[in-house]
Amino acid sequence: MFDFNLSMPTNADPNTLYDLIIIGGGPAGLTAGLYAARYKLKTLMLEKAVISGGQLTATEWVENYPGFPEPILGQKLAKDMESQAKQFGLEIINESVIDVDLAGSIKKIVTDYSTWQAKSVLIATGSASRKLGVPGEKENAGRGVSYCATCDGPFYPDKIVAVIGGGNSAFEESIFLAKYASKVVIIHRSDDYRADKIIQDKVMANPKIELMPGYAVQSIEFANSDDKHLVLVEQGTGAEISFPADGVFIFIGHVPNTKLFEEKIELEAGYIVTDRRHFTNVEGVWAAGDVEAKSLRQVATAVGDGACAAFWINKYIEDWTEN
Ligand code: NAP
Repeated sequence: MFDFNLSMPTNADPNTLYDLIIIGGGPAGLTAGLYAARYKLKTLMLEKAVISGGQLTATEWVENYPGFPEPILGQKLAKDMESQAKQFGLEIINESVIDVDLAGSIKKIVTDYSTWQAKSVLIATGSASRKLGVPGEKENAGRGVSYCATCDGPFYPDKIVAVIGGGNSAFEESIFLAKYASKVVIIHRSDDYRADKIIQDKVMANPKIELMPGYAVQSIEFANSDDKHLVLVEQGTGAEISFPADGVFIFIGHVPNTKLFEEKIELEAGYIVTDRRHFTNVEGVWAAGDVEAKSLRQVATAVGDGACAAFWINKYIEDWTEN
């Protein structure tokens, strides 16, 4: 685990009119922050978590970020991105945004502590783990139900864990979980997996991981610690079976963090619609990273989005006038 510096910066001031406020401190926000700070824009990042990096902080190894021929720890990459942006003057404060007023030339961002003002806003709020929505999921979250293998995998030494999903996350995180668990079973509703072939091959080669295609989760029954199991339904026949598991990790994709922006910004299936400059339909408001309506969501694409958005924001600030 990395030693994060959790000290709060002291320079942020709610009386300042910032050039740019970035909401969200994942790879897109941190890259935009780095570029904006280097453009000498007075930039503030609002990140609700004390550790920046977004989903990177819940990723063990990153193998496909250019420049690192050996896999790099997600938390290390996140920490380095944050340090680099701060070095150039990005201010980060840990507050949760609860409301936004984006209509005028001066944008107001309300957090649980203050109201911040800026000439422009970049939304980089990313996405959150999709929930299965079955009985027992919410009730047992943090008590056997998890969405983060890096965070919770070590709690299952020599235990049996179920992983739900069939994409890259389910497969990659299963490999991590297999370091601790005695057995990892990937339960997927079909036999058609979205995970990249290279990751599928690694899973197949791992003797601790089994595939269980063709089953959907009907409920998670963890109330009785002596009899923890999932109720699964066989697709096609509808037959119910009981699957004993000490824990379940759910990796079934993500939903965008855009609740704050509903009715305020144009969305498509919940994601923010942007143009090639990452400009939204609201004057002075940009979006970057996983929160955007787009086809590929990776660290590499988030970083590119953030850099590009900052470039156009800088041009916008050069011409900015208060209405
Ligand atoms: P994903 O690729 O969208 O896959 C989601 C999986 O969950 C699919 O197998 C889907 O099944 C299943 N699913 C969705 N809703 C479900 C439900 N209600 N019940 C049961 N199963 C459900 O999601 P992801 O694996 O989280 O990956 C997200 C993005 O990040 C992808 O673009 C992925 O490539 C990327 N990623 C990349 C890497 C990497 O490159 N190293 C690592 C992790 C993630 P169906 O196929 O049946 O819909």
